[in-house]
Amino acid sequence: MTFDQALKSRLIRAAAEAVIGHAQELTDLDRAIGDGDHGINMKRGFEAVLADLDGLAAKPLPELLRGLGTHLVITIGGASGPLYGTLFLTLGKELPAEPGLAEASRAFAAALAAVRARGRSAPGEKTMLDVLTPVGEALQAAAAAGGEGDLASRLAAAADRGLEATRPMLARKGRASFLGERSIGHLDPGARSSQLLVHAVSAVLAAAQSAGQSAEGASA
Ligand code: ADP
Ligand code: MG
Repeated sequence: MTFDQALKSRLIRAAAEAVIGHAQELTDLDRAIGDGDHGINMKRGFEAVLADLDGLAAKPLPELLRGLGTHLVITIGGASGPLYGTLFLTLGKELPAEPGLAEASRAFAAALAAVRARGRSAPGEKTMLDVLTPVGEALQAAAAAGGEGDLASRLAAAADRGLEATRPMLARKGRASFLGERSIGHLDPGARSSQLLVHAVSAVLAAAQSAGQSAEGASA
């Protein structure tokens, strides 16, 4: 797959629109177990990203990701800003301009490790890591199998399972942890924003992949 400017632009736009379009829901989730700003925070961050859409899409993938991470760190704030910033900045540091599946899987694992270090957190604590970790595992499994197969739907399914798994969890990190047992029974807002991002990105990549395949088929 070639990460040309049009594809990069579609990826950024899809990610930003998914978050912005669900800002109210993210805020409602955060109102239940936090301080009700997650949607507002994320919307502010991804509006800054959209405002720089053309500039970002013109950059090679690593610089694009670092630029996106920088926008998020500067504008989101809260606990999630530095964590999402770390995720994208590390991806930008680790990915080559035209990554294959194995490189993507390695870079994602490095980015997850960086988020865990930054948040002093681990999966099972009712955070975004409960979505991002199974997605990383699905990526690793696909890389190990040596084929992309139906990668997009597997990543989306891993994100869905991870999100739903946060519902019965007791929050151990962030503001939700102040609620103790009362955090049980609610989805984690950061897990929902991560799941939205995974869905958006994998749908665009799947469409680009099948367009590439049908173009190959047509020229064969
Ligand atoms: P704040 O909690 O400062 O108001 P947000 O509401 O924007 O920030 O983000 C809350 C989300 O951040 C949580 O739902 C959770 O997914 C994530 N989060 C909070 N603390 C941590 C942490 N230490 N490690 C990983 N994720 C965290
Ligand atoms: Mg909050």
